[in-house]
Amino acid sequence: MTALLIASGNPHKVEEIATVLGELGLDCFGLDQLDSGFDEPEEDGATFEENAAIKAVAYARMTGRLCLADDSGLEVDALDGRPGVRSARYAGTHDDLPRFERDRLNNERLLGELDGVPSENRSARFVCSLCLARPNGQIVEQVRGAFEGRIGEPPRVPAGSNGFGYDPLFLVAPHFERTSAELAPSEKNAMSHRGEALRRLVDRLRRHPV
Ligand code: IMP
Repeated sequence: MTALLIASGNPHKVEEIATVLGELGLDCFGLDQLDSGFDEPEEDGATFEENAAIKAVAYARMTGRLCLADDSGLEVDALDGRPGVRSARYAGTHDDLPRFERDRLNNERLLGELDGVPSENRSARFVCSLCLARPNGQIVEQVRGAFEGRIGEPPRVPAGSNGFGYDPLFLVAPHFERTSAELAPSEKNAMSHRGEALRRLVDRLRRHPV
């Protein structure tokens, strides 16, 4: 089997990706399974593609492993695509706070920015870019997935307790009846940006094995 480093410290993401790519004979492991720590590269790209590539190339070179990295976030049309690549830190950098608190502050800011914007103008999408790089830093594949919806309005949102981040605010297209935090994990994977990007990657790797 070919070993593949998933450049993520999030065990849920690593497991989700490992399950799918395992079928292609790729033996996936996460950053936390490496013996020594590596400096995190600065994600200073202007797009999800740039940031995924920065991470995949940096970790591939640092570790000498085939490496897959992802970058994702939320684009809101009425905000010219913000929070975009700043999705995780939209309300500022609060590394001292637990994730759910940072999510709460980001959600509060997003609802504030959209205050007064009517529902038909609240269209948005989650985007995920996946980038696969060889140990020498050469990019082998890069794919994108998107998940269309709309940012809901209080008091209908926040709603749901599954997922993370902006899920409790994101009403899923085309019916806009449920937020992505109200979807079961398997349902979300089947529709989501990350699920779509992963299926595209699998498709490419079946045709062009690494
Ligand atoms: P990362 O790529 O895991 O760092 O995610 C970037 C940020 O985008 C997260 O912190 C969330 O705020 C947001 N995000 C990405 N994917 C999702 C999702 O599936 N649901 C909700 N928020 C998401």
